[in-house]
Amino acid sequence: MSNEPAPRRVVIAGGGTAGWIAATALARQLGRLVEITLVESEEIGTIGVGESTIPTARAFHDLIRIDQQAFMRESQASFKLAISFEDWARPGDRYLHSFGTMPLRTWVADFQHFWLEARARGEAGEIGDYYPEHEAARLQRFTLDAQPPLNYAYHLDAGLYARFLRRIAENDGVTRREGKIVKVEQDGESGDIVALVLEDGGRIEGDLFIDCTGFRAMLIEQTLEAGHEDWGHWLPTDAAWAAPTESVGDAHPYTRAIAHPNGWRWRIPLQHRMGNGMVFSTSHVEAQTALDEFQGAIEGKLLRDPFLVRFRTGRRRKAWSRNCVAMGLSSGFVEPLESTAIHLIMIAVTRLIQLFPFGADCSAERDRFNRLAQNEIEQVRDFVILHYHLTERDETDFWRYVRDMDIPDTLQERIESFRQSAQAWQATAEIFRVDSWVQCMLGQRVKPQAWHGIAALMGSDRLKQSLAEASSGITRSVETMPSHQAFLDSYCARVEA
Ligand SMILES: Cc1cc2nc3c(=O)[nH]c(=O)nc-3n(C[C@H](O)[C@H](O)[C@H](O)COP(=O)(O)OP(=O)(O)OC[C@H]3O[C@@H](n4cnc5c(N)ncnc54)[C@H](O)[C@@H]3O)c2cc1C
Repeated sequence: MSNEPAPRRVVIAGGGTAGWIAATALARQLGRLVEITLVESEEIGTIGVGESTIPTARAFHDLIRIDQQAFMRESQASFKLAISFEDWARPGDRYLHSFGTMPLRTWVADFQHFWLEARARGEAGEIGDYYPEHEAARLQRFTLDAQPPLNYAYHLDAGLYARFLRRIAENDGVTRREGKIVKVEQDGESGDIVALVLEDGGRIEGDLFIDCTGFRAMLIEQTLEAGHEDWGHWLPTDAAWAAPTESVGDAHPYTRAIAHPNGWRWRIPLQHRMGNGMVFSTSHVEAQTALDEFQGAIEGKLLRDPFLVRFRTGRRRKAWSRNCVAMGLSSGFVEPLESTAIHLIMIAVTRLIQLFPFGADCSAERDRFNRLAQNEIEQVRDFVILHYHLTERDETDFWRYVRDMDIPDTLQERIESFRQSAQAWQATAEIFRVDSWVQCMLGQRVKPQAWHGIAALMGSDRLKQSLAEASSGITRSVETMPSHQAFLDSYCARVEA
């Protein structure tokens, strides 16, 4: 006799990036165990930004069997090897936070200790010389054939990506319902959500509800009042002007994050256009001033007028409350400097699939889900605060505020450890590896006062030779790679009918 449970009715509210990622992954992985309905409103639309990812997107796509070439062609995507931070610690500075993995690490000490020792002896180049992804990004090269393979992520057109996923999800049995949700019905006794009521009178019942309604958080907050922890005192940016432009020149395989007197500006190269935005804090600068700064800096012809996006940095106290799981912006948001929000959606749906509630009581899974989600988003928060706090800029109230503010103890400890002893670590289940912390702390001008003594045990010749071999191997490999643009053109250009 089969023990297969009756299908659970899953209702997804919202069809932005979060809604369609959730629908596709649940349908692909749980098959006939779920009956999925997704409700979205064309009239309300989506947030219209969110186009830069981190490498975990590749593993997620593999998990749900998404063909990379088809995805890239349909989403007009490009490859991303790094983020280029420009003018952050001081105007004129530039460093790449690449997705590379350091060479020459031992169980006692990571690469930075050996590199610092060699630097002190005058025998090492820049830290980026030892990361293939850094060098490929710097020289705007790319290939899928490198040995070892390059670690990369994507830039994608969010609207096209949602459409691409929608086709897959509908093909896998997801029902899409157009309409505006006007009411969320709860069970009088348990408080669980029982149905969504639409403006046209439709009523959609479910067992499990996924809130992907963006910052509206219609189910998780407006209905269930799960609570929000605000991080605006650490990350005061709360608005962005965004606008696509025509591309000028070849697509670079990195996101640009350029600091400005009152915030920062992104440039995200896609195959068919460039995504641009200016992030700022409304407590420190008028929206009009930020717009003037944005328009003054923009390169390429505008494809539409700049539009204003308001946002809020913080986390939902319970991302999973009763029979509702929030994903995407409804579950919390850390401003977009390290392009982590799509990753947080992917990890949330992956975890929901693992902990999917088939039994009557799922309170233990729910608590675990919430603990893990909190841990992840707090780690992202700390890493993003680091970039602001470690600035030497002081030309505006904005930069003086972030430089002088108190920061979370967890981050303070990391900065002190690196400054005192060059120590950096990847916490349990953290997405940022030692490589990320090292590249960003050095890029933000933290100078370690000491490093692990084991590096000094390596004779000068051996250390010098090891570093020279590592960097010359990288140079040789990168030189043979095609340009990123040429690779895109041959691999995933859209063929016009
Ligand atoms: C300025 C900025 C830049 C960003 N950049 C990045 C980035 O580079 N990388 C990254 O990973 N992330 C980025 N993000 C985050 C990213 O945009 C989001 O994580 C992602 O788009 C998911 O959004 P969402 O689906 O949760 O919400 P939305 O896109 O807002 O979608 C909400 C959905 O809910 C529907 N809806 C809402 N209310 C109702 C209703 N009453 N009835 C019916 N439907 C309803 C809407 O129609 C829509 O379909 C950025 C965010 C901001 C603010």
